[in-house]
Amino acid sequence: MNKSWNESARSSLKSANECNEYFEGSTFKDFHFPIKIPLEFAERIDKSNPLDPLMLQILPKEVKATEGFFDSPVSDEEHSPVKGLIHKYPSRVLLIATSVCAIHCQYCFRQNFDYVSHDILKNWPAIENYLMNKKEVSEVVLSGGDPLTLSDKKISKILNKIEVIGHIKTVRFHTRTAVVIPSRITQELVDMLNKTKLKVVFVFHINHAREISDEFMKNVRELKDSYFIKSVSIT
Ligand code: SF4
Repeated sequence: MNKSWNESARSSLKSANECNEYFEGSTFKDFHFPIKIPLEFAERIDKSNPLDPLMLQILPKEVKATEGFFDSPVSDEEHSPVKGLIHKYPSRVLLIATSVCAIHCQYCFRQNFDYVSHDILKNWPAIENYLMNKKEVSEVVLSGGDPLTLSDKKISKILNKIEVIGHIKTVRFHTRTAVVIPSRITQELVDMLNKTKLKVVFVFHINHAREISDEFMKNVRELKDSYFIKSVSIT
């Protein structure tokens, strides 16, 4: 029987010891950004190749702060007028929907982000007030973390809150979860998304062709065929 996406998410390697045992080596060490590798992703790695392009994404490296080193290379905090919301482009804002990801990419530029103070549900009154006064904003990007690590119920709650702001027409899901755990795209998720009046766009974060599984492609096709999912793009 196929695993549910929740079970797949729980079946992850989460320490250097677990990784060294799984990959039969000793190259993994625990540094400040914790290891998290879903088994479905680990299975796609060629254990015999130390330069495997998938391996290089999840192998922790010690980062030494040298001159010019920034904890926050894309300056998210400087563009956050309200906690939980990042506003860099006139017509679009990004919401920090969650701190959780299905995989920890060791190159991630939000490794040091202060997720605790950017909880969107806790900060929602201020976020809603900000957006109500920004009529030029027509699009919300759900990011994090990864919005598809949230339950359908929580995603639905966030969509309901966004829908109240009449000038917001589009919601964009930025996700890597659907790539590394393709079973996350369920019929229940599609049915829930079909109920929103917002235009739904998916942006999938893929770094290498070997990350694209048959299951992922099948699920993306089903998403695309769904009447209300208006746009699917792969970056
Ligand atoms: S999935 Fe995205 S947010 Fe999460 S660790 Fe990877 S790059 Fe960072």
